Amino acid sequence: MTRGVAILGSTGSIGTSTLQVLRRQRERFRVVALTAHSNAELLEGQVAEWHPAYVGIVNGGGILKDSLTVVGRGAWEGGTGNACLVEAATHPDVGIVVNAIVGAAGLEATLAALRAGKRVALANKEALVMAGELVTEAARAGGGEIVPVDSEHSAVLQCITGRRPGELARLILTASGGPFRTWTPERLAGATVAEALQHPTWKMGKKITVDSATLVNKALEVIEAHFLFGLPYPAVQVVVHPQSVVHAFVEFVDGSVLAQVGFPTMELPILYALTHPERVPDRGAKRFDPVEAGALTFEPVRPELYPAYALGRAAGEQGGTAPAAFNAANEVAVQLFLEGRIRFGKIAETIERVLAAPWPSSARSLEDVLSADAVARRLAREAACS
Ligand code: NDP
Ligand code: MG
Repeated sequence: MTRGVAILGSTGSIGTSTLQVLRRQRERFRVVALTAHSNAELLEGQVAEWHPAYVGIVNGGGILKDSLTVVGRGAWEGGTGNACLVEAATHPDVGIVVNAIVGAAGLEATLAALRAGKRVALANKEALVMAGELVTEAARAGGGEIVPVDSEHSAVLQCITGRRPGELARLILTASGGPFRTWTPERLAGATVAEALQHPTWKMGKKITVDSATLVNKALEVIEAHFLFGLPYPAVQVVVHPQSVVHAFVEFVDGSVLAQVGFPTMELPILYALTHPERVPDRGAKRFDPVEAGALTFEPVRPELYPAYALGRAAGEQGGTAPAAFNAANEVAVQLFLEGRIRFGKIAETIERVLAAPWPSSARSLEDVLSADAVARRLAREAACS
């Protein structure tokens, strides 16, 4: 029996890597639903290859009707607007939802899938950061399960699977340090978009590549780890590791430390999120070779280079709606930076200005979170353009 998979954001970096994994795993999984935002051309090609029962495109209704009817085979349904994400995520034939959407737009589909009892293979860390309490509560209420796709969190999960929660003491997540690790803060403030998009070890979508250059990505991952593994913030630490070979270290209460290693590829964490706690034979990823990996180095995070990292950690510690505000401010600032409208250094300044506002301490309802998200976006636009 194959398990049905929905891929939300199938046209992105994680989405296409997921389909690459599924090409080798056709006897275990079948694609039931695919969604994109506006890349109808790539989505069409995916529909022609996979013949999903459900296809959604958030922005491009006309395209869906005209072109997908031609390539779709047999009976299929389609949806448009944001509603298509929830429809795909809760489709009755879907057992696993790979949420590969970028940004806050992925939140409602994650909540709906968990409430419907699905496994969510979560790449969309922003959803967990914005609404960690709501997402964990939705999983509890609906019997759904969150399995991380993020490589560091997959590494942690692989190290702790089979252990009791009380045995876990501390996590050390690794960060490549991004393209600016050796720069001076003065030079960094004026870094260009092209420079920020030159990630040294991973090939990813633009937003997360900029988040890796500011280290916002690692702050998001610290908050993500806090919610996934139930550890207090001081027990979730970060070290810069430029080779991206060790994905995370896990310390247990007896002082023993396990690490998960491998050449950087998202295909392994994606496959593991689909099969956890089992492992299945796969020949996709390049086999590990310690000699080829060479010397592995570790350095502390330099706070003067990555001011947004400390801001994100502080927002996590503050809790309530502060993480949602942090995430929203960053999304707005990164978009403005990518459009060439603000300089690189302004991303952290914008986040700092937004976080200085008093953020409500209750994030228990979706309204609390979405209203903080909306206010933070408005404040961020004002701060960035002032
Ligand atoms: P991409 O930008 O490559 O892809 C984003 C996907 O989401 C696309 O399919 C896009 O559709 C869709 N999308 C964008 N905006 C919306 C929206 N408003 N509503 C619905 N769908 C939307 O991003 P990545 O694949 O790099 O990242 C996806 C997520 O995974 C992020 O949360 C990121 O942090 C996380 N992640 C990514 C890693 C990586 O290696 N790339 C590693 C670890 C985590 P369209 O193509 O039509 O625009
Ligand atoms: Mg990561």
